[in-house]
Amino acid sequence: MKRPPRSTRRAIAAAVAGLLTVGVAATAVDAVEDWNYNDLGPDTWAESFPECGGAEQSPINIDAEAVDAALAQLKAEKRGAKKVGGISVDYDKSATVEVFNNTHTVQVDIPAGAGSFTIGENTYDLLQFHFHAPSEHAVDGVLHPLEMHLVHANADGELAVLGIFMEEGRANKVLAPIWADLPDVDDTRRIEVDDFRLSKLAPKKPTAVSYMGSLTTPPCSESVSWFVLDQDQQMSEEQIDDFEEIFSGEEFPEGNRRPVQPLNDREISVTGKN
Ligand SMILES: [Zn+2]
Repeated sequence: MKRPPRSTRRAIAAAVAGLLTVGVAATAVDAVEDWNYNDLGPDTWAESFPECGGAEQSPINIDAEAVDAALAQLKAEKRGAKKVGGISVDYDKSATVEVFNNTHTVQVDIPAGAGSFTIGENTYDLLQFHFHAPSEHAVDGVLHPLEMHLVHANADGELAVLGIFMEEGRANKVLAPIWADLPDVDDTRRIEVDDFRLSKLAPKKPTAVSYMGSLTTPPCSESVSWFVLDQDQQMSEEQIDDFEEIFSGEEFPEGNRRPVQPLNDREISVTGKN
């Protein structure tokens, strides 16, 4: 796994908080805020949301060397024609999506049935995606400017989240229609974006670091299957700035990011295609 550049600009100043409001028709502004990223920040969440103090929390720090070793092993297994239950992404070519600011992040809701994610025999539907700046997962202790979370749920309500790091580079054309009108924290609009190129959001056959974790926002529910992709995407400096601008300042002193949590007894593995 490639380490992010040390120069990861202003990583700490920025921010996107990822809210995993699953299946909730969230209004952009809640009447009562019982958590946030400043005075009721991550250090205090466990007081109101006991699960946030659990032993299998997200995000985590990823050890790049351990991932490289696991990748080498995965390749060797493939050469041996040994089939392991892999992962695959199947998103529609395009969809009409809804963008809104839930006061913790910019979230994009996906129409039912437009995207699915498969782990072995188990299929999960894409519900929404959102962003954190700087990234929530770290690689050897280093953060990326942004991290996108694609949230999926299966028929039993179990969650699987794909995390994709954004590095600074070329403008991200797929996300550009969303970035064209990014709603501010106090903006209550739900903005419809037609013909959004959903299938371009993630590779169909990704390779990912996987582990069992949690939602990274209250209630921090556990038993979430995490897949942090080995393949970064790019965004322009301007796109990164546009997002950081919304999730910075007094309300977001460290961005909308939860710090990394102890790994404890968990195993990190590398998962590839079927
Ligand atoms: Zn998130």
